[in-house]
Amino acid sequence: MIDGCGRNIDYLRLSVTDLCNYRCRYCMPENRVHRRSRREMLSLEELEAVARGAVALGVTKIRLTGGEPLMRRGIVELCRRLRAIPNLQELCLTTNGSLLPELAAPLREAGVDRLNISLDTLRPERFTQITRMGTLEQAIEGLAAAQQAGFTNLKINTVLIGGFNDDEILDFVGLTKLHPWEVRFIELMPMGPCANWDKRCFLPDTAVLKRCPELRPVPAQGVARRYRIPGAKGAVGLISPMSHDFCADCRRIRVTADGKLKGCLHSREEIDLRGLHGWQLQNAIRQGIAHKPQRHHLSERKSDTPRNMNQIGG
Ligand code: SAM
Ligand code: SF4
Repeated sequence: MIDGCGRNIDYLRLSVTDLCNYRCRYCMPENRVHRRSRREMLSLEELEAVARGAVALGVTKIRLTGGEPLMRRGIVELCRRLRAIPNLQELCLTTNGSLLPELAAPLREAGVDRLNISLDTLRPERFTQITRMGTLEQAIEGLAAAQQAGFTNLKINTVLIGGFNDDEILDFVGLTKLHPWEVRFIELMPMGPCANWDKRCFLPDTAVLKRCPELRPVPAQGVARRYRIPGAKGAVGLISPMSHDFCADCRRIRVTADGKLKGCLHSREEIDLRGLHGWQLQNAIRQGIAHKPQRHHLSERKSDTPRNMNQIGG
């Protein structure tokens, strides 16, 4: 469906939980995590109904996210049901990877097409520092499990944080020489716990190109500008919501785990889908698409959303 700004909206990011087994410092507070009751969250049936409604309006790609989507009970069954929706071309999932050793094979078998695995550092002590709870070993085991299960085109999401992991840019780019992965450097967005971090933490993507002048441009994919080291097996993607706002090309809508449709990650506007069925659900999704905000305002101010990233779905 075409939105009010002429953009073809064909991509739904569907959050299945706001719970997480990590507490990444830029994403979630350490304590005081607000736990919504089960009744406030979309059931598996409601998640499927939302997905079907969106596909009926022209969505062809769904990404499951969270919180940590693999913590959602019934995730494999949900994937199986979503994969059976006619006209859905791609079912993807973004995960911190920690539960992939148990779940990679069942997810693949349920029809998940692609995985993005988040990994902000290759140094064990830093990994535990940034996630507050995870270990690098878990993440590496998760990556290995994804490969063993037959997932190809793996993408690694790395949030660039000045003073934390900018000295690892070359190490991450080096991974693409050996592995057919796409390492995607994502600019840190000022929202939730990191909204007031020192401005030196917010590095522009040019930091990657400066550190690695051998990178050569290759065709873009979605909102990522892409590069490759000549002869490398994989590629490097730059996702730059801060320095190159890509709002004019944004084809996404989002639905939170508590059933709010958001046209933009950074806007306050939400449409409640909970309790809606049939044509009412479809109409609400249509409204959300029609009124998708034209752009975010991160170049002028912090994110307008009062939610933390885990409560929306990155
Ligand atoms: N738990 C899963 C994971 O970490 O991959 C999925 C949800 S997480 C919210 C999705 C992505 O959002 C992760 O790659 C995370 O690094 C990214 N993210 C969270 N907060 C962010 C922020 N303030 N700026 C940029 N990316 C952020
Ligand atoms: Fe959890 Fe993902 Fe947020 Fe980290 S980025 S706290 S893994 S939801």
